[in-house]
Amino acid sequence: MVCKNCETKPVIALPNSKIKLCKSCFIKYFEKKAYKTITKYKMMGKEREIGVAVSGGKDSVSLLYFMNKLAEKKRTIKIHAIAIDEGIKGYRDLIEVKKFCKKNKITLHVYSFKKEFGMPLDKMIKKINLKPCSICGTLRRFLLNSKARDLGIGKLATGHTIDDEAQSVLMNQFKGNIERSARLGPVTGVVADKRFVRRIKPFYFLTEKETSTYCFLKNLPINKKGCPYSAESYRAQVKKMLNDFTAKQKQTKHAIINSFLEILPMLKEKYAKVKIKGCKNCGEPCSGDICKVCEFLKQIKKK
Ligand code: SF4
Ligand code: ZN
Ligand code: ZN
Repeated sequence: MVCKNCETKPVIALPNSKIKLCKSCFIKYFEKKAYKTITKYKMMGKEREIGVAVSGGKDSVSLLYFMNKLAEKKRTIKIHAIAIDEGIKGYRDLIEVKKFCKKNKITLHVYSFKKEFGMPLDKMIKKINLKPCSICGTLRRFLLNSKARDLGIGKLATGHTIDDEAQSVLMNQFKGNIERSARLGPVTGVVADKRFVRRIKPFYFLTEKETSTYCFLKNLPINKKGCPYSAESYRAQVKKMLNDFTAKQKQTKHAIINSFLEILPMLKEKYAKVKIKGCKNCGEPCSGDICKVCEFLKQIKKK
């Protein structure tokens, strides 16, 4: 079988269809799809400063490359790469990201758990009886939001793909956390509050396989090391189950997302009424009196 558009040798079979594309047609298809998502969901308004959360992995580096290319064309936006160093020995390695940003003249901001919270994740998990990903995810979201806001960033782009989103939808269903699903979607957030920087997901309708292929074809430098804690995470179990299922029923992830997007406006409307207060300790937005981060840090410091 040859490329559907130009009849040369294909490099990928598109998920959820029998279409095959060659390198150049695939790159065009990928970028067009990401751009279409940006315009369809009005991801970028008048904001000039756009953040890209970058971990060094294939999704975030591909996104950084794509957004920077867009900024070079548009010239009305400025890209800031934001990286979080959680302090995970042998995993978090930002050497390639630093080189990539330097080469492409992208401003990179790095924040570490050690500097911001007093200790690396590796040390925190010895002091608290919680799964590493629960602490890590909460602290990382907190830092990304507060630092992006302090930098004057209007929107924060993340490299989430349809795989990530389908996993999150299922995880929330399985755990009965429907309110958390209301915060998902191509543009996150429920309540319009200046303290929250809206997150945008330009790769929302692209699969992990497509993003990996794009990253590979563009020869982008990435950190291939896996997090030592990921295997024990709930997400890893859901990911495996979903991938096994999708191997037999190819439309599964797309079906989850398409049906989720139908109910998302209702979820957002329902949970928009939730009152957001300010943490009595750090002032960051939260629904209770004390935010989760301050709760964690209090427990950690006690030990
Ligand atoms: Fe953090 Fe878990 Fe991701 Fe590792 S797998 S970086 S612990 S959220
Ligand atoms: Zn082609
Ligand atoms: Zn707090």
